[in-house]
Amino acid sequence: MTEAAIKWPRVTGAWLHSPALVKVFAALSGGGAEARIVGGAVRNALLDRPVRDIDIATTAVPEDVMRLAQTAGLGAYPTGIDHGTVTVVTDKQSFEVTTLRRDVATDGRHAVVTFTTSWEEDASRRDFTINALYCTANGTIYDSVGGLDDLRQRHVRFIGDPEARIREDYLRILRFFRFSAEYGKGHLDPAGLAATNALKEGLSLLSAERIRAEVLKLLAAPGAVDVIHAMYKIGILQLVVRTRLEPERFERLAAIEATLGEPPDALTRLAALAVSHPDDALFLAEQLRLSNAEASRIAAASAGDPAIDPVTSEAAARAALYKLGPETFLRAVRLAWAHSGAPSNNPHWRARALLPDRWHVPVMPFSGSDVLALGVAPGPQVGRILEAFERWWVADNFPSDAEQQSSVLKELASKALT
Ligand code: ATP
Ligand code: MG
Repeated sequence: MTEAAIKWPRVTGAWLHSPALVKVFAALSGGGAEARIVGGAVRNALLDRPVRDIDIATTAVPEDVMRLAQTAGLGAYPTGIDHGTVTVVTDKQSFEVTTLRRDVATDGRHAVVTFTTSWEEDASRRDFTINALYCTANGTIYDSVGGLDDLRQRHVRFIGDPEARIREDYLRILRFFRFSAEYGKGHLDPAGLAATNALKEGLSLLSAERIRAEVLKLLAAPGAVDVIHAMYKIGILQLVVRTRLEPERFERLAAIEATLGEPPDALTRLAALAVSHPDDALFLAEQLRLSNAEASRIAAASAGDPAIDPVTSEAAARAALYKLGPETFLRAVRLAWAHSGAPSNNPHWRARALLPDRWHVPVMPFSGSDVLALGVAPGPQVGRILEAFERWWVADNFPSDAEQQSSVLKELASKALT
């Protein structure tokens, strides 16, 4: 479907008729309450993008949601009962069902809410117009804030006065950039941009966990390059990612991913943007609450193995690929390529990035039992012999001749035996 053809009379898609969702709607309608899908699912369905999480808004209060779901034989868990959310589970799918709300107090981080039966009130406490669309079980759309028009124009716009909305919750600064990078087209909304700039110091109130989630989504978004430049220009990015930043290097990495046809990877992008020194990776891990696995992925890819660079021989690159494994190797090549300043159409870097496609990493042909079979007693020397063999095998460009391999192993074993 071309964009111009989008008319959106209603929401459609197989997901809307999934047995699980049908059961949830049936359960909630039992007590005379109304329920509608809201937010990301409606937005993404209208844009023909994948629908992942389904959030449901309802006029029923949480206790009634619990009871209605249980009566219908569905799982019901009070996961956020204070702010009105019950997680309803059926057919291994879970749905966040939240009672319509109105804010009674906000402090820039949290809101105290009260329940309401007004769909308009519930819509107006949401962040952006494109996130405040609702649809019923049969796909009828409700839009009280002009979200459909904005969605057609890919316009990410605050509901109400941007400054007032940001003061309620400073995370909306980052969400403005994140949703603009994911769904926006053309310039950032000027009023939204001005408000984020005026209130950026409020970011310091936010927890690292909330920042982390928005930043990682932002970095991997389709429009991230322009948005990152814009955030850097007004000094917001520097408040959120506090190492020396290189937006140009980030842009080069995005171009490299695109020419390779690789999907964006948030962690590699973070490394391109913000890791110039090994300590930066450690600092970011702490600052953005990266898991150990995430931090070591960044560190390994940023380590700067010289054999990554296409000035080295293909054999050296194979050795690096063997040592790092394809995933880390690829990440390291893309990062080093972005670091080098070489353009994304550079054929030498491209060839290096495609090495895992033309050469499959061989498996080490021997293990401990092969060494023992040669008469070596169990103990640390078994490992040492294997390591010596591996060094020879890698340095010799992975010879595959089984006889040659066996004779080298025998020789190493006999040296150990004498
Ligand atoms: P995604 O695909 O990224 O999950 P989403 O629209 O589902 O997109 P969520 O962060 O999961 O985004 O939030 C769900 C909905 O809750 C949003 O669409 C929005 O209506 C509302 N919302 C979430 N966070 C905020 C916030 N900080 N301020 C106002 N409304 C919010
Ligand atoms: Mg969501």
